[in-house]
Amino acid sequence: MTTDTLTLTLNNGIAIPALGYGVFQTPPAETVDAVGEALRVGYRHIDTAAAYGNEREVGQAIRESGTPRDELFIETKVWISDYGYDETLHAFDKSAGKLGVDRLDLFILHQALPSAFDRTLDAYRALETLYAEGRVRAIGVSNFMPEHVTRLLDTATVVPAVNQLEIHPYFPQRELVTFDAGHGILNQAWSPIGGITFYREGGGGSTLEDPTIRTIAEAHGKSPAQVMLRWHIQQGRSAIPKSVKPERIAENFDIFDFELSSHDLARIDALDQGVRRGPEPTAITLEAFGREIPEA
Ligand code: NDP
Repeated sequence: MTTDTLTLTLNNGIAIPALGYGVFQTPPAETVDAVGEALRVGYRHIDTAAAYGNEREVGQAIRESGTPRDELFIETKVWISDYGYDETLHAFDKSAGKLGVDRLDLFILHQALPSAFDRTLDAYRALETLYAEGRVRAIGVSNFMPEHVTRLLDTATVVPAVNQLEIHPYFPQRELVTFDAGHGILNQAWSPIGGITFYREGGGGSTLEDPTIRTIAEAHGKSPAQVMLRWHIQQGRSAIPKSVKPERIAENFDIFDFELSSHDLARIDALDQGVRRGPEPTAITLEAFGREIPEA
């Protein structure tokens, strides 16, 4: 496998390491060590969010690692409570301030707010301003369904570079992925190894225990998590696995020395259960999900 597979190019020409490291549910007290370990192992793309409450610790880990800023790709997300033009401009100040950086590599809207879509559009307009001013190198969205992308594109002047979505073998959202690709929007998989299938109660089983994935993993002398990450990378997606455990942080990065066959990929594709595990994107409201994001 060549190192070419490590980097993808966004629709504005910016390079993004395909494999990133996520920190959702990483407690602030563990974040400095976990992100520090990820950077030591070789990850150069970190995905956080204002709503995760650990941007400050991500920033601390980055500084303490000594990794040159221009070798890093820092991605964070605006929470829905900060939607609106002025509010989202201020959300940038909050996130950048906590992270301790002047510029973000990728700044995305965490969710569409269907019941207040005008606020979503105003928030995106703020991202366009930040992009025009060079304070963010790319902008995008998360959990946007085709109708949300379509409505956004009606007024947007900048096509989102990324749509970050629940994508794992049990819920590959193939139609949405194809829709995004048709608009030049890179799909980025959250819960890429199916975390949400095993850290949350619910039917359908755990992707890590899946017999097909385990069989493929054994055949390659790799783990189920590594097989799922390869599946994403070989299908051209970005993926951002999370772990706080050093051995898993390293394991999830060690995926560039093997290749799944087209038969392997097809067998994983066939595992689609068509059932979303995360929140229903069309049902996100400020009343149910709003929360105050502290100042930097
Ligand atoms: P993941 O698919 O990354 O799975 C994480 C879970 O798997 C954790 O419980 C982790 O536990 C465990 N784990 C990690 N590596 C391994 C391994 N090699 N073997 C066995 N278990 C493992 O799910 P996430 O939901 O965390 O998604 C990843 C990232 O995506 C988030 O951190 C966040 O950045 C982003 N995200 C974005 C969302 C959005 O709405 N935009 C929603 C959810 C996530 P442990 O830490 O104990 O190792």
